[in-house]
Amino acid sequence: MTIIRGATTIEMDCKEEISSAVKELLDEVFEANSLKKEEVRGFVFSLTSDIHSYHPAKAARESGYDFAPLFAAVEPDIEGGLRKCIRLMLFAEVGNPVNHIYQRGAKILRKDISEIMNIALDGPAGSGKSTIAKILAKDYNILYLDTGAMYRACGLKALRLGVDYKNGEAIAKMLPLLDVKVEYKGGKQHTILDGEDVSSAIRENAVSMAASGISAHACVREKMVEMQREIAKGMSCVLDGRDIGSVVLPQAKYKFFVTADSKVRAKRRFDELSSRGEMVDFEQLHEEIIMRDKQDSERASSPLICAEDAVVIDTSNKTIEEVVAEIKSCIQSKI
Ligand code: C5P
Repeated sequence: MTIIRGATTIEMDCKEEISSAVKELLDEVFEANSLKKEEVRGFVFSLTSDIHSYHPAKAARESGYDFAPLFAAVEPDIEGGLRKCIRLMLFAEVGNPVNHIYQRGAKILRKDISEIMNIALDGPAGSGKSTIAKILAKDYNILYLDTGAMYRACGLKALRLGVDYKNGEAIAKMLPLLDVKVEYKGGKQHTILDGEDVSSAIRENAVSMAASGISAHACVREKMVEMQREIAKGMSCVLDGRDIGSVVLPQAKYKFFVTADSKVRAKRRFDELSSRGEMVDFEQLHEEIIMRDKQDSERASSPLICAEDAVVIDTSNKTIEEVVAEIKSCIQSKI
């Protein structure tokens, strides 16, 4: 069960205003979340004590929202609190991240969840980006876009076709055949290559180098960056990658660059691959990480770079919980 929140305000305490504000709020909640009647389990409204003229549950019923239980209650008075405010908690069976709706004077209530929030998280391989990004996405109930997965799918395509991922001409020829998509099921990203779900296949170690190699080509980057921007434009999300803060979303309000010592990063990848049963040599993994760093940082087209306005966090000696807390407190101070 998911809760979608909403709030709105009225200017005058009268039936007409309450009815239209409730309808407007519910209409946007449904539209912004593509909600279906059968997914809704109940509506709970609360009103500030200066609203007397009409019952929001009745207003909702009269606007056609009569297919699930409706309830409303008066809130306790809080000094300095928003006046003439109607709040909503809608219970629904939906899996994806939801859009909370704050209208009229209530927009100031929760800027963090009513504005599109893009968090850019860049850093080298093994810095902990994806683990951090997943936690942030879950805690803020926003989408997680793993941009590395998209380049991995491109690398996998080249490997499957036997195309040399270093050869720019061959890659440019392959480009029209490159069909990479990102889908979400139950809030989880699935990477689709030519209609096939390759979310597991792209995690194999051989694909890492191919992804790093193919992502150096400007034509590949252009195609992927366009898709990434399109996704980020429409909804709140946390994106992890190499160039999010510098190229994909230079306007993002929240930018972080996470890094760690190369040995620490190699150990993390080693543990990750070993836990999946992939046998790898630690030293070789370490060398590959250094090579990938070099390849990613030295390429001409949007290299791995720390955006000037990004907050840098070295995760070598920090737990994931510590890093997440640091990032959240930075975000909080900017909201
Ligand atoms: O993050 P991950 O290791 O999955 O990324 C695989 C490769 O994709 C990286 O080594 C990097 O070369 C490339 N990449 C990129 N830009 C991004 C994300 C990943 O060039 N935004």
